[in-house]
Amino acid sequence: MCTTGEIIILSDDDDCEDVPPNELSVFIVEVEDVKKSECAVPPTALDEDLVITFSRSAEVLPHARYDCPIHPFTATDCEVSVPVPNNHLMCDQCFCYICDKLASSCKWWCYSGLCHCNSHKKSDFWNNHRNCALLGGLKTFNLTLSEVDSHLRNAETMLQSFRQELSTLYGVFLKGRVLEECGPIQTRKNCRIFDYTPVYEHVSSFLNKADQQDSRAAAIMMLGATEDFIRHFQVSGTFLLQSPSADAVKARLLLLQR
Ligand SMILES: [Zn+2]
Ligand SMILES: [Zn+2]
Repeated sequence: MCTTGEIIILSDDDDCEDVPPNELSVFIVEVEDVKKSECAVPPTALDEDLVITFSRSAEVLPHARYDCPIHPFTATDCEVSVPVPNNHLMCDQCFCYICDKLASSCKWWCYSGLCHCNSHKKSDFWNNHRNCALLGGLKTFNLTLSEVDSHLRNAETMLQSFRQELSTLYGVFLKGRVLEECGPIQTRKNCRIFDYTPVYEHVSSFLNKADQQDSRAAAIMMLGATEDFIRHFQVSGTFLLQSPSADAVKARLLLLQR
């Protein structure tokens, strides 16, 4: 069986006079460059000038837990309540299939109800779970993992933080503010104004950022932002501001016509 890592090959060739003595006998071959079929060639078919006198087994490369060469894995389906016996064991290079990071840093590895250690790729249940976890908000755009690149991930991160701030600003808008110009404090409670401008400016600035991204990332940001602000409505206050951006309905139109 092929091992991975490096192999040191010594040559017993005596007729390598043109090669400096310190270079003629040792070759270090990275196994990644050696095709499996080459490993299977019988010794007689190899170059007669080469004899393998030493090989070193490779370090274990990172792998999903279900592929661990050290701890056997038992595949089940939909088991999230408890670790199937021994599935919770991990080596230094075991990755969580759901989080796509080292199993040792998975928060849900043995967490009852969300237990990730039983996950594996031959299960629709776990594959869906993985897609949801890794796609995050991008799942609503019908993207698959193979279509997602760093631009889209960045767009999604920006969209999430945009949405948090948008929700705060829209909450403030819905409460309105009391106009101090309304006279004595006792009469002010009905003197409310609902100014959408801060929300409008927040959306505008986000759409400007979207314009600077690559086309797919920009589309995700614009669609995501539109999905949110399109639902905003105007609240009638005692006073109306003249600026179109102060009125949620007019501001929405301005944003859509950008
Ligand atoms: Zn492992
Ligand atoms: Zn995990």
